[in-house]
Amino acid sequence: MKIFQEIINILRPARNLDFEKMQTTNPNARGIPVPTFKKGSSLDKSVEKVCPTGGIKVVSAKEVIFDYGACLQCGLCVEHSPDKLENSGFVHVYSVDRSALKVSYIDGTPTSHEESISDEVKQFRNITRKTGFQYREVAASGNNSTEAELNASFNAVFDSEASMVRVVASPKHADAVVYAGPVGPNMEVPLQVAWDTMPSPKALVACGTEAVSGGLFPLGNLPKQPDLFIGGDPPRPDVIISAFRYLMGTKKFSFREELSKFVEAKKAR
Ligand code: SF4
Repeated sequence: MKIFQEIINILRPARNLDFEKMQTTNPNARGIPVPTFKKGSSLDKSVEKVCPTGGIKVVSAKEVIFDYGACLQCGLCVEHSPDKLENSGFVHVYSVDRSALKVSYIDGTPTSHEESISDEVKQFRNITRKTGFQYREVAASGNNSTEAELNASFNAVFDSEASMVRVVASPKHADAVVYAGPVGPNMEVPLQVAWDTMPSPKALVACGTEAVSGGLFPLGNLPKQPDLFIGGDPPRPDVIISAFRYLMGTKKFSFREELSKFVEAKKAR
């Protein structure tokens, strides 16, 4: 009987996610807030005070800047200004360029931004595009929620290894260090040691809003400027794997282009 069960298992269609068909939004998530106001209206400056991470700056009646690298996707700003902002469900918040996550909206439309890709990222891509990469995770003073999502990224639904991304026990065997949390004083040295132990070429990945900006806390000292910034508190497993694929160059993605397309499509509705 066992042999028949094995044959059924082989023939059964795979149930894991198809990352080629991944949407940038998730209907079950709040996602980042986006403006809904148009020309002639404006967002009240008082909204800046409700954001726990200082992620919103109302520059003028026309312009508001969101730092999505500091955004916890908590929805407080939307509760404060429901007629000017909305939870978008947009969760694919990642870039190799930190400044790409700081978005200026003029009259509710995101301004354009050319993503800058460092030589280190290009070199990392050249090596990992075909082979994938292995990472060592460093829990750097966070609340373990990002670690829970990283664990889930290896389950049968998300199947990180099918995207050629594996986890290893030692940074000696890793191509990347993925850290989560705001890197408190006690974790600065361990993170630096993990980084120094890895052979080059290598990448540093800030996984989650706290790792990108500190979130509710001051961000500690890092070994270097990260090569990939993944927003979300915590980011979903599918977002993490999509970001890894983008880092490797097996997925084409530009946060600013995708966000602009999303906002334009919303306005057209
Ligand atoms: S952290 Fe919360 S209040 Fe601040 S921008 Fe993000 S969703 Fe809005």
